[in-house]
Amino acid sequence: MAYVITIDGPAGAGKSSIAKRLAQLLGIHYLDTGAIYRAIALILAEAEVRPEESEFLEEALSDIRIELRDGAVLVNGFDVSREIRTPRVDELASTYSALPSVRRALLGLQQDQEQYGSLVVEGRDEGSVVFPRAPLKFFLTASPEERARRRCLERERRGESVCYDEVLAAIKERDHYDSSRALAPLVQPEGAVLVDTSKMSEEEVVELLLSRVRGALSRGEVTA
Ligand code: C5P
Repeated sequence: MAYVITIDGPAGAGKSSIAKRLAQLLGIHYLDTGAIYRAIALILAEAEVRPEESEFLEEALSDIRIELRDGAVLVNGFDVSREIRTPRVDELASTYSALPSVRRALLGLQQDQEQYGSLVVEGRDEGSVVFPRAPLKFFLTASPEERARRRCLERERRGESVCYDEVLAAIKERDHYDSSRALAPLVQPEGAVLVDTSKMSEEEVVELLLSRVRGALSRGEVTA
């Protein structure tokens, strides 16, 4: 039987690398829902569809086909995996993802992924809205300063020049925006295990999550 493990949390809490590694160790699929919101936001902005509810938005959404293939995100057949990882798209994704019709359009796409087998899914509302009945939920967080430090390191490794203060301010702004929006805000889902990763290495977090999952599997709380 397929099962879903949800990992929610704010930007820079380490969700992506941890979710990816956990899925790999468990031999199940990994779904990065932030990438889907980023892709949609990028395409809408490029098509000059304003970030507000309108018939243009509904029409544009009905023309967009998103596919997830081997970790790549394809929009209407084009791979946008690289273009969606920029500070501009961080902001665009946060803005467009607050719109009800955008969230409606992406709900089914995310839920449908369960039909392909068990998965680790990461995002903002996975345990609260998309997969509320998931048998195992995690909420990963870390201090804004630590998350900004990690984001800077990530960008430096990509050869980008970064300013810590700007990254920290952008993280705080996105936290505020994602947590205060009316629809599917970023919250710790009911029943989710809270993990503060501020002082933990990636390996330690993966170990902790893995032992929780293995424990739940052995007790039959999660059936594979
Ligand atoms: O996780 P990531 O930083 O790639 O997500 C980009 C943006 O997409 C988030 O800031 C959030 O506004 C939005 N998002 C969301 N719901 C999700 C995943 C991402 O609203 N499940």
